[in-house]
Amino acid sequence: MTQTTTAAPESAFETAQAQLRKVAEILELDAGMIGVLAHPKRELTVHFPVRMDDGSTRIFTGYRVQHNDARGPLKGGLRYSSRVTLDEIRALAMWMTWKCAVVNLPYGGAKGGVVVDPRLLSDGELERLTRRYTTEMAIVIGPERDIPAPDMGTDARVMAWMMDTFSMHHGFSIPGVVTGKPVDIGGSQGRFEATGRGALYITQEACHLRGLSLQGATGAVQGFGNVGGVVARMLAQAGAKVVAVSDSRGVVYRDTGLDVESLYSKRLAGGFLDRTDLGPGHREISNAELLELPVDILIPAALEGQITEQNASRIRAGMIVEAANGPVTAGADAILAERDIYLVPDILANAGGVVVSYFEWVQDMQSFFWDETEVNQRLQRIMTKAFSEVSAVAQSRGLRLREAAYVVALKRVMEATRLRGLYP
Ligand code: NAD
Repeated sequence: MTQTTTAAPESAFETAQAQLRKVAEILELDAGMIGVLAHPKRELTVHFPVRMDDGSTRIFTGYRVQHNDARGPLKGGLRYSSRVTLDEIRALAMWMTWKCAVVNLPYGGAKGGVVVDPRLLSDGELERLTRRYTTEMAIVIGPERDIPAPDMGTDARVMAWMMDTFSMHHGFSIPGVVTGKPVDIGGSQGRFEATGRGALYITQEACHLRGLSLQGATGAVQGFGNVGGVVARMLAQAGAKVVAVSDSRGVVYRDTGLDVESLYSKRLAGGFLDRTDLGPGHREISNAELLELPVDILIPAALEGQITEQNASRIRAGMIVEAANGPVTAGADAILAERDIYLVPDILANAGGVVVSYFEWVQDMQSFFWDETEVNQRLQRIMTKAFSEVSAVAQSRGLRLREAAYVVALKRVMEATRLRGLYP
């Protein structure tokens, strides 16, 4: 029997570390500063019991990683997924630090996760799990300390349970402990669409810079959840021809363009695409094929590690906008750079969610709420400013947008670290 050895796939934290090292070299950082930036400040792992509907008790594992709070309270989503690992949460926490800094929010970065497939739990089980996880995390979260938000597998309902649980412990309502809540209990107008809307604003800026008109441009979007569903719909509304969208069950493709509005309005529970009555011209292709379509704009909006060293040389999109976190591995990034494929990095492209989370937190702290037009206008201002700052650095230093975004973010985090000094 012949033995073949294949390199282990690059983990999300390895991708995050490689990205940091590359920019540390560009900025000629000293080892002490790299050490500070490369390590999470605090990590909490909990194993906690939940009473299941059949009377049994199941133990779940949850994490909260707080990467860096030099610029302010920590901020980052909470992910429910059976694939969650501490390593993945570390990467996501680090990306939150850079993301908040690149759009200049007064926040540091954190992330949380529970190893669970939420689709396999009843509503009651999910609520008990969320309340117990929140209680376990109560020693590290809070409106001035660390403010969770929805991510994959969690939503406004989960945030409502977290807010209620935290408030019960304190004896009064504390809406600012989480963002992405329902509007009726202190959520912000426009928060649900914010990540997708922000990604659209960034795509518009990138197209403008590249001399590409969105009107008639072809697009493919991987993932049809909170982010992918919204961005696909907004792309189509902006006049783009979206030829493919997908979920974890596969891809819906039509080379003449999809009716995204109809697909969006007919989404099934769990955000799945409704594949009944698609009409003529539609074809099922694989998720791997979606990534390799010859489109103007490819938007990965599902998982990390989708474009790797294995498929990077086959990508035919003219532009990639990373709406998901970490969809391109560091190895793949180098191949895309060599091939001169224009790429807008995650920490810039999907920052719209945390920007409107910040607005929600500000509104909660002031108990004074804005209408959706105001939210969207402020979001657009922040996203376009961030894009122009990053692309100016890219042009002046001859960098790609990813490195330029890291340069902008790292400089801000380092300046805060320098000003605060090293304690004690
Ligand atoms: P979600 O759970 O709402 O949606 C995920 C989508 O991806 C679903 O349609 C799912 O079916 C699909 N999917 C899962 N596995 C897939 C696969 N193998 N191939 C194709 N599709 C697959 O999650 P979301 O909130 O939309 O998050 C998506 C990405 O965006 C994640 O990387 C997340 O970290 C990132 N993100 C989310 C927000 C936010 O505000 N929700 C903000 C910033 C970044």
